[in-house]
Formats: sequence, C-alpha cells, structure tokens
Amino acid sequence: MNKHPRIFLSPPHMSGREEVYIKEALTSNWVAPLGPNVTAFEKEVAAYAGVKGALAVSSGTAAIHLALRLLGVGQGDIVFCSSLTFIGSANPILYLGAIPVFIDSEPDSWNMSPVALGKAFTWAQEKGNMPKAVVIVDLYGQSADFDALLNICNRYGVPVVEDAAEAMGSTYKGKACGTFGKFGVYSFNGNKIITTSGGGMLLSDDVEALEKALFWATQARDKAPWYQHSEMGYNYRMSNVVAGIGLGQLTVLDDRVRARRKVFVRYKEALEDIPGVGFMPEASYGQANRWLTVMTLDPNQTSTTPMQIIEALEAENIEARPVWKPMHLQPLFAGCKYFSHEDKESVADRLFETGLCLPSGSSMTEKEQQRVIQVVRRIITS
Ligand SMILES: *Cc1c(COP(=O)(O)O)cnc(C)c1O
Repeated sequence: MNKHPRIFLSPPHMSGREEVYIKEALTSNWVAPLGPNVTAFEKEVAAYAGVKGALAVSSGTAAIHLALRLLGVGQGDIVFCSSLTFIGSANPILYLGAIPVFIDSEPDSWNMSPVALGKAFTWAQEKGNMPKAVVIVDLYGQSADFDALLNICNRYGVPVVEDAAEAMGSTYKGKACGTFGKFGVYSFNGNKIITTSGGGMLLSDDVEALEKALFWATQARDKAPWYQHSEMGYNYRMSNVVAGIGLGQLTVLDDRVRARRKVFVRYKEALEDIPGVGFMPEASYGQANRWLTVMTLDPNQTSTTPMQIIEALEAENIEARPVWKPMHLQPLFAGCKYFSHEDKESVADRLFETGLCLPSGSSMTEKEQQRVIQVVRRIITS
C-alpha cells in the first residue's frame, strides 16, 4: 500500500465560483441545453480570444467536426492534419468520410512543420487532389508557427482549422491561440487547463458560419411548426449547467496559466542538469500555457527510457504518460500518407520514443512536485 495520495497528470482545478453559476442554473430551472450561462460563456470566451463569435458544444472533437463540415469536407476529400496529436484532432476527418494525410512536427516547437506541409502540398498539387482543409494543432499548449504555416495554406487557398484544444490561454505574437484559422477550437475536457467536466467551443469571425454550426449542433431542425429536417444534424449543444462551470473556470484561466508555467520552471530547474534530460522548447514567437510539462531523454546520453520513468512514478502512485503516439503510427490510420520534416527522419517518431508528460496540474503543491522530481532523478541517476 502506498501512503501517499495519488498525483494525477492534469486533474480539474475548481475556482469555487462555479457553484454560483450552477446553483443559478438549478434554481432558475435552466438545466436544459441553452440558457443564460451558455450565452454568457460563449460571449466571454469570444471576448477573451478576440473573435466575433463562439459556439459552445459538447466536446472539442464535436467542434472540429462542425468546423470541417462548414469547410465543405466530405466523402473522399483529403484533409491535412498534424500527426503528433491526440486522436480528437483526426477522428472528425473520418466522421465525414474524408481521408487524412498526416504532417510531421518541426523540432523547435514540436508543432506542424512548414517544410513537411510544403512537401504535402506539392504532392497534392501533382496529384491534382488538393486538401479541403488543414487541421493545425497547438501541441501541449504551445502555438504552432502560424505566419509560416498560414503563408503556405493561403498560397494554395486552403482554409485552416486551429485545434487549440490544449492551448487556451496561450498566445502567438501577442494574439490568442484559437484565432488563427478560419475556425478555432477549444476543449473543456476534464484534463484541460480549464474544464467544464466536458465540452468544447468553436470560434470564428464568421458569425454566419457559426449560425449554421448551431443549426447542425441542435439536430438541424427546420423553421417549421413541427419537427422537420432537411439536413443531417447532431446533438452537440453544451448544456446550461455545464456552461456554468465554464463561467467559473474562465475567471481563473490566467491564474491557471501562471501556475502551469511555474510547474514547468520548477521541473526544468530541478532536472535539467542531468545528462540527457531535456524539455519541450518554448518558441520565441509566443507564450505557451505549458498545459503539460514534457520531458525528453536523449538515448545517446542516458539509458533510461520514458517507460521506465513512467513505471517508477506509477509505483509511487504518480500518473505520467508517454508523448502522444503520432497518428501516422496508429493502427487506425495504417496506410495513410505521411510527410516528414526531414527526408530520413520523422521528428514526431523521435518525440514519441523519447518524451514523457509529467504531472502538471495547477493544483499540485510544491511538496507533491518534489515527490515527482525525486523519483525522476533517482531513476535516471541510479
Ligand atoms: C483534448 C483534445 C481534443 C478533443 O477534445 P475533447 O473535448 O476531449 O473532445 C482535440 N484535440 C486535441 C489536441 C486535444 O488535446
């Protein structure tokens, strides 16, 4: 038996203000979907990000699904997508019957490589089969290099969906992540930097498109006195109770970013002297929210593997995880096309083999973090 309470990778961290909004929803009987919390949550998130509109939905994945459908993605279409990401970025491509083509990371930010993206566009042009959209992920809360990436996408006239599910509160050149594509997406899943227990947000300056997304997200009900449907829809709307949690969480978003960045600095200062230990770099063009602290182990300098550290932490009742397994390595996507940053080496593969995510919750105490640090140090140096 382990006497220490479990340290989770990224647990929810309530502000205490959520209850006020939830109680309001309950006492006013606004427990059904829609209601004042949903509207207020959408307005506040749009204002925070600096976009014209936002649509609250049941998950980040649902928001990506709606975004891709708004861009006209359908059966047999090609969609480019970051490979080093969570499955939620890519599953919506399959929902629409489209074909994902995966793009490698570049080593400086770990986000989509402009070099690999350029190769993919050249290939698509030669085939005469251009992608309908590009899904660009802000990995672990760090912005992708949007000047370089949008420059390429704009040259080919292909719209971008920014999957900022992990990057709420992060910036690129002073502007909020989630605002760089035609559509942007946040997730409020339980382990994200702020949470509603589960939910997502679709952002855009195109309020007409968001109206259409709202129509689809509420079962595509035609304007008729009876239930009439001319298009296929979904039940994707966020409920008013859930939005109340979001309103409470939003008041502490900036605190949560500061706390996660502090967690990162403590890990870095405590571990970076160990030969072979590295961390996800922060690109100079923006500020990452450091949703998760990701550590790397250089196999040329240490024989310790990420899995050995993860297992040692688990033995101490501490949760850690490998870096996302790249999409092009997933059995689900066997046979899908993949473009790497370098001709002979895939950056995403190397990051998957050498990286691990350390507990990074904003509610983790310094004492708890010391427990994590001690185990990591012991395993690598023993
Ligand atoms: C969490 C996440 C999603 C999906 O969000 P859900 O709200 O869980 O559906 C999509 N993309 C990335 C990169 C994520 O981390």
